[in-house]
Amino acid sequence: MNKTTILVVEDDIAVRNLITTTLDTHDYRYIRAENGQNALQAISSKKPDIVLLDLGLPDIDGIDVIKRVRNWSEVPIIVISARCEDTDKIDALDSGADDYLTKPFSVEELLARLRVTQRRLASLKNSDPEDSEFRNGEMKIDYAAGSVFINSEEIHLTPIEYKLLCLLAKNSGKVLTHTFITNSIWGSSFDSDVASLRVFMATLRKKLDKSSKSGQQYIQTHVGVGYRMNKL
Ligand code: CA
Repeated sequence: MNKTTILVVEDDIAVRNLITTTLDTHDYRYIRAENGQNALQAISSKKPDIVLLDLGLPDIDGIDVIKRVRNWSEVPIIVISARCEDTDKIDALDSGADDYLTKPFSVEELLARLRVTQRRLASLKNSDPEDSEFRNGEMKIDYAAGSVFINSEEIHLTPIEYKLLCLLAKNSGKVLTHTFITNSIWGSSFDSDVASLRVFMATLRKKLDKSSKSGQQYIQTHVGVGYRMNKL
């Protein structure tokens, strides 16, 4: 039995039914909310493990729901939006959402996003904030030594590549926007920073992929949005 409880926030009955039927057949528990106000109440009173949140709600805008929730809860939020414009996704991620799905989405996509989020939750529970190393698939980061290994072979990174990798590792499983990353690394987010970020990310990824024997992709690009470290 899958004990994860999902709060489904969606005002469109057809979409809500599709989601809850999918959850039902895959042994998830779920709670429903058809607007932002009920969603906020359900998050505080029922404490779901994951929230699936539609952005276009009848009362409160989904982005505002995320901002309010983030004042008092770290519950993972996966945004579901019909708005395919990147700015909405980016606003949602910058406001504290963990991931996103764009309508129309497939059942497989929904389940994959839930699995990513569950793995992230599990690794958060198991990780000690004092941990001196990070492991993911064939990769190991030794924080004390400032070194990175793939299959015990050391990968030589520049200081910025190393900072980028640590930031992605700390948030692995989560999509980080260009703005979030450039603010964290350079303390600013100008267009020129985003352009440099692309270059640094390309070289970092090349170094990681070259050493990986299994062909595992550590860094996933979300075109126009940002990057995510896959949890392997
Ligand atoms: Ca809607």
